[in-house]
Parts: sequence; structure tokens; C-alpha cells
Amino acid sequence: MDQAAHQILELVEQAQSIVITSHKSPDGDSIGSSLAVFHLLKKWGKNVQVVHPDPAPVFLHWINGQEAIIDFETRQEEAAKALGTADLIFCLDYNEPSRVGEKMEKALVEAPAVKVMIDHHLHPADFCKVVISETAASSTCELVYKWIKDIGRLDDIDVNSGTAIYLGIMTDTGSFRFPSVSAFTHEVIGDLIRRGVKHFLIHESVYDTNTVDRIKLRGFALSEKLVCLNDLHVGYASLSEEELKRFNYQKGDTEGLVNQILGIQGIKMAVLFVEKDGKIKISFRSKGDYFVNELAKTHFNGGGHAYASGGISDENLQQTVEKFVTFVKDFIPRV
Ligand code: 5GP
Ligand code: MN
Repeated sequence: MDQAAHQILELVEQAQSIVITSHKSPDGDSIGSSLAVFHLLKKWGKNVQVVHPDPAPVFLHWINGQEAIIDFETRQEEAAKALGTADLIFCLDYNEPSRVGEKMEKALVEAPAVKVMIDHHLHPADFCKVVISETAASSTCELVYKWIKDIGRLDDIDVNSGTAIYLGIMTDTGSFRFPSVSAFTHEVIGDLIRRGVKHFLIHESVYDTNTVDRIKLRGFALSEKLVCLNDLHVGYASLSEEELKRFNYQKGDTEGLVNQILGIQGIKMAVLFVEKDGKIKISFRSKGDYFVNELAKTHFNGGGHAYASGGISDENLQQTVEKFVTFVKDFIPRV
């Protein structure tokens, strides 16, 4: 790890033009890790751009640097040009090129730049020259912090990069509660607060910005659409495109909803099916001896972590849910 950390520093020092990328459907950790590295490299005087597959959700718009992200969805030409002319590309919070989505994948793979990966997902694919991959780490942001520590540059962390790191750790750990949180995670958080990061403002900015529509959509999902298979300890809900529209759906409105299902007494696996652009996006969460990544991978074209995975289905909402109900039993530990 230490050697990889120094190799990445060397590549940064040699690079004239650096692009930072992350996965599709950005979350706190992809935005946080991207902007932490962005602020740091800018501080070092580097020419650096952030290129993401799609725009940040509204609930993350408050963070400094978000406005600089060039997304492939709405600014394809600019994004492709940045990728094509970079000499170093950071791949943050994803383990294989397909995670940037079909459109951006080609530009990423074909880019002549040297690529480096910092990530915590299982099974990193072999497409980067230098890889920092620690699957036990709470978040990519924690690994970004560790990278900065290993190269002896912690004093370059300021409120901008520190806030971005805090954001990713906070969101990927369910506010510091998942088993992935370690003593080191808390040491990082302590250090960030010491460096001036206002932790309470970050929590407020992410969690206290619900619109009435969002709260009502979540209430609807939980009161009208929740199904609990109590003998299997499984709970799920599905939302159709029409239902989202009824509540003036905005990107990010269903974020975290699956965790509320996991919070139900006795539930060990929670699943949320959301219809978007004719496809079904699926979020899986679990705890204890239930693991969801194999289920996501085997039947829903996805993957992820043992306790938090995602997938996608081309079948309609009802068919997808039925398929899930049929196959879920195979992924539940026998009692
Ligand atoms: P979410 O439910 O928040 O969209 O995703 C949870 C986790 O599942 C992500 O952090 C990511 O690791 C994984 N994940 C989500 N969607 C996909 C997907 O389509 N493919 C793969 N391989 N992993 C996914
Ligand atoms: Mn992450």
C-alpha cells in the first residue's frame, strides 16, 4: 500500500493534465473522494478536472467543487475531450470500467492516460497501472485519507478536502455505524475535525434537506408498497415511474430508503426496486449472516459489497420483483 501510495504521488508529480473519475449514480463517497483529490491536487498547482458519468444528486449540490464536475450525460464532448487528453486518470470508488456506464466506458478505456485506482469494492479489475484496493476499508474517502497520510501530506488537507473526505466516510458507513467502521475510521474523523471540518454542518446538509415531496414519497413507499417476507427476514418495496412522478421525483429522493426497511425489527435483507427510464434499478442491503452481493451478481447484473449491493433489470417492475421472490431463498442461510 505504501509503495502504491508513493507511485501515485510520483505519477501526479509527472502529470501535466489529470482527470478524476468515479462511478455512475454518484453517492457521497464517489463525490467526496473525487472532490477531496480535486481540492488537494489544485492546492499542489496541478491542472485537474473531475469527469463523472452523470450529475451529482441535488442533496450533494452544497459541497464545494461540485460545480466543477463535468458530467458525461450533459457535457459529453467536453468530458470525452478531458479524458482523451489527460495523461493521468484517477479511478475512484469503482472496481471495473463498466461502473462508469456504457457511454463513458469507451472513452475511459480508450483514453491513453495512465490510470490509477483507489477503491474499496471487491474484485478490482485489471485496468489500472497502480491500484490501492482495500475491500475492508469503510469507504474510498478513508483510503484517500490514508493515501495522503502515507505520502506525508496530511497538512495539505484543508476544510474543502476535509469536508469531502468526511462526507464519503459518513455516507458509506451509515453515519459511522456499519461493521466496516474501524478505530482508524474514527481517528480519521477526529483528525478532520481538528483540521477545521464542521461535522454538524455536513450532517445537516445531507440529512436535513428533505422536500415535502420526498418525505411523502418515502411515506407512500413504506405505508403502501412495503412487503415483509417475515419467515425469510426479508423486506422489500418497489416504486414505478408513475408513482415517482406522482411525488415529483427528483434524483436522490429514494436514497437511503432501503436502509429504513433494513431498520425494521427482524429484517436482515432489504431491497428497493425503482423503475427508471424503463429499467429497474435495485438496491440491496443486509446484515448479520445475510449477504447480498452474490444475489445481485447472479440474477440482477450487478454486485457490490456483502452488505450493500446494487443491480439492474431489463424486465418490468412486476417481473423483476417476482424473479427476486423466486430466487431470494437460494441466498438465505439455512436455519
Ligand atoms: P446503491 O444501492 O446505493 O445504488 O448501491 C450500493 C452498492 O452496490 C454500491 O456502493 C455499489 O458497490 C454496488 N452497486 C450498485 N449498483 C451496481 C451495479 O449496477 N453493478 C455493480 N457491480 N455494483 C453495483
Ligand atoms: Mn464507496
